[in-house]
Amino acid sequence: MDRRSLLAALGAIPLAVPFAAPLAAQPLRVVASFSILGDMTQQIGGAALSVQSLVGPDGDAHVYDPRPKDLRTLMQAGLLVRNGLGLEGWMDRLTDAAGFKGKVVVAAGRVTPRTMTENAGAIATDPHAWQDPRNAMLYVQAITAGLVEADPSNAARYRAAAASYTERIAQTDSWIEATLSAVPAGQRRIITTHDAFGYYGARYGVEFLAAQGISTESEPSAKAIAALVRQIERDHVRAVFIENMASPRMAQMLARETGAKLGGTVYSDALSPPKGPAATYLDMLRHNTTLFAAAMRVTT
Ligand SMILES: [Zn+2]
Repeated sequence: MDRRSLLAALGAIPLAVPFAAPLAAQPLRVVASFSILGDMTQQIGGAALSVQSLVGPDGDAHVYDPRPKDLRTLMQAGLLVRNGLGLEGWMDRLTDAAGFKGKVVVAAGRVTPRTMTENAGAIATDPHAWQDPRNAMLYVQAITAGLVEADPSNAARYRAAAASYTERIAQTDSWIEATLSAVPAGQRRIITTHDAFGYYGARYGVEFLAAQGISTESEPSAKAIAALVRQIERDHVRAVFIENMASPRMAQMLARETGAKLGGTVYSDALSPPKGPAATYLDMLRHNTTLFAAAMRVTT
């Protein structure tokens, strides 16, 4: 019996009980709900972890439909990392079905959430907290605490990697701030498909407008789209962006209707595949910022 199945068999025993490390330690199996959390966790855990993301690159974590293989993946995992803030409405069904008894990290658990008024007037919590790098630092703290608890033998390694990753996040945050500071305040408006950039906009002083609310679960109404078209024209918004995990049709239609430019594809709720321009969380921030800044700086 290996260490992990022993731990599973002893489910009721606290994980902090010191076990003698086996000679060839198996990497801790971690499941992340979606690709951005998968990358953050891998950055902290390195080779000590085997990380699998349920919703992969270019996937939509709002409306995921778990498959039988996800059950097996989860049953073999010692740790689950999820976002929280209402993003993964499908997760509780999956953990119940898998009988998952491992540790769960709610990555956004230390974040101060933004709320917003949806088109229908309801107040909703915005789950996209990772789009503000300062929140990502809180995600790193929460994930590191979970890793240390699930696998105390590698605690020093996780803490050191988390410190250097946090430093790189801080550098990226400063770079974004400097890059966007070149855009005049009156031109800081961007249109996206769904409302995924509220935290980013609040951090860097950019106004984001979107056809869809903070979830992709409901289609925008004709009335909401008409109001957005009027707003784009009135405010002279320069660019409309396609999101990697959503249909491009809405952005294409808005550009056609208003004469705004299509600014390219940005990454909101999922990374790109490994060879793409946003294969890691930090690459995603840089890619999005480069496109946003270029679109907003265009003079008309
Ligand atoms: Zn989203």
